[in-house]
Amino acid sequence: MGIRRLLVVLGDQLDAASALFADADPRRDCIWMAEVEEEATHVWSHKARIALFLSAMRHFREDLRGRGWRVEYSEGEFASLAAALQGAMERLRPESVHVVEPGDWRVRESLLAVCPDLRIVEDRHFLCTRAEFERHARGRKQLRMEYFYREMRVRHGVLLDDGEPCGGSWNYDAENREAFDARGPGLLPAPESFAPDALTQEVLDMVSRRFAGHPGRLDRFDWPVTAEQAREALRDFLDQRLERFGAYQDAMWTAEPYLYHSRLAAALNLKLLSPLEVIREAEVRYREGRAGLAAVEGFIRQILGWREYVRGLYWMHMPRYVSANALDAHQPLPRFYWTGETEMRCLKETIGQTLEYGYAHHIQRLMVTGLFALLLGVEPRQVHEWYLAVYVDAVEWVELPNTIGMSQFADGGVMASKPYVASGKYIQRMSNYCAGCKYKPDEAVGESACPFTRLYWDFLMRHEEMLRKNPRMGMQVRNLDRVPAARKAEIGQQAEALREAIASRGNTR
Ligand SMILES: Cc1cc2nc3c(=O)[nH]c(=O)nc-3n(C[C@H](O)[C@H](O)[C@H](O)COP(=O)(O)OP(=O)(O)OC[C@H]3O[C@@H](n4cnc5c(N)ncnc54)[C@H](O)[C@@H]3O)c2cc1C
Ligand code: SF4
Repeated sequence: MGIRRLLVVLGDQLDAASALFADADPRRDCIWMAEVEEEATHVWSHKARIALFLSAMRHFREDLRGRGWRVEYSEGEFASLAAALQGAMERLRPESVHVVEPGDWRVRESLLAVCPDLRIVEDRHFLCTRAEFERHARGRKQLRMEYFYREMRVRHGVLLDDGEPCGGSWNYDAENREAFDARGPGLLPAPESFAPDALTQEVLDMVSRRFAGHPGRLDRFDWPVTAEQAREALRDFLDQRLERFGAYQDAMWTAEPYLYHSRLAAALNLKLLSPLEVIREAEVRYREGRAGLAAVEGFIRQILGWREYVRGLYWMHMPRYVSANALDAHQPLPRFYWTGETEMRCLKETIGQTLEYGYAHHIQRLMVTGLFALLLGVEPRQVHEWYLAVYVDAVEWVELPNTIGMSQFADGGVMASKPYVASGKYIQRMSNYCAGCKYKPDEAVGESACPFTRLYWDFLMRHEEMLRKNPRMGMQVRNLDRVPAARKAEIGQQAEALREAIASRGNTR
C-alpha cells in the first residue's frame, strides 16, 4: 500500500504531542526526518550544538519507532533539507506532505520551494499564534514586551488572583538585579547532568570526526536529549535554583557558568519540553510557598513574555530583519570571538565558557559579548551569525531578535526602547571579572583604560544626535555634556585606534 501522508519532523520539532500527529495513522502515514550538512554549516556551528540536535533527533526517532511508527531517517546523505525532501518525495511518492510550521523563515522557504503543496499545521508548542501576535501588534505605534506579557498572563490565567496580578504588581524586575558580594555565590547546587548514553556517544564521536574544524568542545556535553530528561532537568531547576533565580539573574562570576539559571532553553527550543508545563510548575512552587513571587514571576516572564514576544517579532519582520543595520555598523567581528584569546577578562571568561559548554547566560550574552560588539560597531549580521553558531539553544527565531533587536539595536528600536549600553563599571558591579583584569573599568583613556569604558563614551559621541531624541537615554547623554571637548577628542582617537588594532588582527575563524 502506498504512503498517504509524509509527516516531516524537523530537528527542532521533537514533540510527540504536536499537531502533526493529531489525525495521523501509523498504518498509512510515514514519518520523515533528515540530518543534513547545511544545518551544521550554514553558520559555523559549535560542535555541542550540532551534537545536541542530532542526538535528540535520533532519540526521538527511536521513541517514534517504539510507538509503532515507520520512520524514514536520513543520516547525512544530503547537503540540504530541500534536496533531502525532494529525494524522499520521489522515492516514497506520498499522497501529501505535512509539516508543523517551521520555526525559521529560511527553512520554511526552502521546503516550500521543493514542495509548493506542503500542508503546514500550527505549532501548538507556542502560547501565542502568529495571528494572535499580529492582532496584538495591529494599530500600536510601538510594541513593548511588558504589555504583551500582561495580555499573555490574562489569556493563560498565569499568576493571577481574581483577575489581578499576584502580589498587586505585574513585574518584579526591580528585585531581580542583585550582584554577589566579594565572597561570591558560595556553594552552588550543581545542575542535573545527563551523561551521554550509547546513542549520544555515537553522535559525539561522529561530530568530532566530521566537524573537527568547528568551534567548541564536546567533553562537557551533558544536555538533556529526551523529553524525559528535559522534565528531570526542569524538576531539578525548580527544586534547587528557582528560589534564587530572580535575585541573581543578572549576576556573573568567574568559572560559574550556570549560577541559578535553568539551562532549559535548548530543551524548550527542540520542543522536548512544553513552555506551558514549565510555567504551570513554576507557579505551583509559588502557590505552595516553596518559591518567592519575585523569583517565580521573573522566571515566568522570560518564557511567557520574552520567548513568545521575540517569536512574534521575528515573523513580523522577516526576512528584512536579518539585514537590519540602523546604526550603520561595519566593523568585522573580532577574531577572539572564536578563540577567547583576549586580555579583557570578562570577554575571555564569557567566550571561553561559551566554547567549553555551548552556554552563557543572558547577561553574559547581552552585557558582555553583545555589548562589546555594539560599542565596537560590529556589523550586526556577523554578530547574528556568531550567536546562531555558538549556543546549544540557538535557533534563529529566538536568536535573531535578541541579537539584532535587543543586543545590537540594529532594528532602530523595534524591540528595545533604547540601546543597552554601559561602561565597564556595569560589568564591575555585576561580576568579579574586573578584579582579575589588567584594565581599569573607571578609566576611558590611557594604557590601562577599560576598552568597554572607552568605547562606551565613544558610542555616546558617535550616536549623540539619535540618542538625544530618546527620552530613556537622557541621563546618559547629559553626562556626555560634562566631558570637556579635549577629552572627547582624546577618547574618539583612542577608540578609533582600538578599532583598527582589533580589525588588523582579522576576523578569520
Ligand atoms: C544576543 C542574545 C542571543 C540570544 N540567543 C538565544 C538563542 O539562540 N536561543 C534562546 O533560547 N535564547 C537566546 N537568548 C535569550 C537568553 O539569553 C537565553 O534563552 C538564556 O540565556 C538561556 O539560558 P537558560 O535556559 O539557562 O535561561 P534562563 O535564564 O534560566 O531563563 C529561562 C528561560 O526563559 C527563556 N528566555 C530567557 N530570556 C529570553 C529572551 N531574551 N528571549 C527568549 N527567551 C528567553 C528561555 O527559554 C530560557 O530557557 C539570547 C539572548 C541574547 C542577548
Ligand atoms: S576592566 Fe573592562 S575589560 Fe576588564 S573585565 Fe572589567 S569590563 Fe571587562
